[in-house]
Amino acid sequence: MDFRFTPEAQQIQQEAIEFTRKEWEPGKWDTQILVNWHHQVDEAEEAVNEFEKKLVNKGWWTMHWPSEFGGQDASIEVQLAYREAMSYAGAPASLGGGLVAPVLMLAAPKWMQDEFLPGIASADLEFSQGFSEPDAGSDLGSLKTRAVRDGDDYLISGQKIWGTYRNPWIHILVRTDPDAPKHRGITYLLAPLKDADGEFMPGVQVRKIPDALGRHRWDELFMENWRVPARYILGEENRGWYTAMTTLSFERSNIQAPATMQRQIEEYIAFVRELKATRGFSPLDDAPFRNQMANLRIEIETLRMIAYRVGWMQSRGEIPQKESSMSKLWADVQYQKTMKTLARGLQEYGNLLPTQEGIDMPNEGFLNNRAFMSGTLSVAGGTTEVQRQIIAQRGLGLPR
Ligand SMILES: Cc1cc2nc3c(=O)[nH]c(=O)nc-3n(C[C@H](O)[C@H](O)[C@H](O)COP(=O)(O)OP(=O)(O)OC[C@H]3O[C@@H](n4cnc5c(N)ncnc54)[C@H](O)[C@@H]3O)c2cc1C
Repeated sequence: MDFRFTPEAQQIQQEAIEFTRKEWEPGKWDTQILVNWHHQVDEAEEAVNEFEKKLVNKGWWTMHWPSEFGGQDASIEVQLAYREAMSYAGAPASLGGGLVAPVLMLAAPKWMQDEFLPGIASADLEFSQGFSEPDAGSDLGSLKTRAVRDGDDYLISGQKIWGTYRNPWIHILVRTDPDAPKHRGITYLLAPLKDADGEFMPGVQVRKIPDALGRHRWDELFMENWRVPARYILGEENRGWYTAMTTLSFERSNIQAPATMQRQIEEYIAFVRELKATRGFSPLDDAPFRNQMANLRIEIETLRMIAYRVGWMQSRGEIPQKESSMSKLWADVQYQKTMKTLARGLQEYGNLLPTQEGIDMPNEGFLNNRAFMSGTLSVAGGTTEVQRQIIAQRGLGLPR
C-alpha cells in the first residue's frame, strides 16, 4: 500500500503551505466552518474576499474547473492535497464556485454561463442559498415556496431560512407545479435579491436570526410576489430537483475537518505550554488528560483516512455515498468531542466566551466559542441522524 500523494499533488500541497504562511495570518479570524467568528461582519468578509482574490491571481481559485471554462482540470488528488494544506493553515477559502458553478456548466445555456461564470471565477460574485425552509430541511423535497408564472417572470412567495442573504444574487428552489409528485414540481432559479443600489427587491424582506450568544449569524428570507425573470431557470422548469443534485467531479472528501482539527490541537498544545510558563498550571500536567489528547489524535487520523478514501474513490470515478456520509458524520461528532475536551482541559478558563469583555480569556475565548457552537454541526448540511440512515441503508443494507 502506498498512501503518498503523487509528486504533483505533493508539490501543490507544499506550495499552498508556503503561500498561506505569507498571505494569511492565522488567528486573524476564526475560519472554522459554521463555528466561524466572522459571520456577517463586514471587515471579516472583506478580509476573506481579499484572500480569495489572491487565490484568483495565483490561478488556484478555479483550478478544479474544466479547462473549457477557464480552469485547469485539476485532478481530485491535487484538489484534496491543496485543500488539506489550506485548511491546516486556517485559510478562509480555497476553491471557488460552490454549488452554482457546476450547475451553470452542466445545465445552463451559454449566455447564462457568460453572464455569471466570469464573476464567480474572479471572486467578485457570490450567491446566497435559498434551499431550506422552516418545514423543509431534511425533507427538502417538500418545500413550499411558490413561483407562479406571470408573462416573462415568476412571482415568488414563501419563506426560506438558514441562509445569509447578503449577496446580490441567490440560487433558489421554488415550487412551480403544486400538483406534481413533490420532487417533480420544483424549479431551480438564479434570482436577483438586490437592485443596482444594493437594496432588496420589492417583495423581499430579510430578518436576522441571532445565534445563542446573541450575534447575527443567519437570516430568514420572506418573499411576497417577488418578481424574478423566468429566463434565469437552471435546467428545465419542474426538473429543478434533479438539476440541483447535479455535481461535477469536484473533490468532496471533507478533508478540511481533520486538517483543521489537527492544527487546532497543535495550537492548543503550544498555548497551554505557554500557560504553564505564565500561570504555573497546564492541563498537560494531568496524565488522564494527556491520554484523552492521544485518543483525539488517533480519532482525527482515522477521520483523515476516511476523507482520503472518499477522495480516492472519486479519483477512480466511483461515487462515494455511504463513505461521504461517514466522513461528514464522523467529522461533526469528532469536532464536537475535540473542542469540548480541549475546553474542559482548561477547567473554568475553558468556559469563558469572547463576549465576556474585559475578562482575561485564554486563547481569546475562541475555544469555548468553538465548543459551544459546534452543536450546530449536527444539523447543518444534513443532520447526523440522516447520515446514519444513509450508512445503515447503503452501507449495511438495513431496511428503511
Ligand atoms: C447552523 C446551520 C446552518 C445552516 N445552513 C444552511 C444553508 O447554508 N443552506 C440551507 O439551505 N440550509 C441550511 N441549514 C438548514 C439545514 O440544512 C437544516 O436545518 C437541516 O437539513 C435539518 O432540517 P430541519 O431543521 O428542518 O430539521 P428536520 O428535518 O425537521 O429534523 C428534525 C429532527 O428530525 C430528524 N429527522 C428528520 N428526518 C429524519 C429521518 N428521515 N430519519 C431520522 N431522523 C430524521 C433530524 O435528524 C432532526 O433531529 C442550516 C442549519 C443550521 C442549523
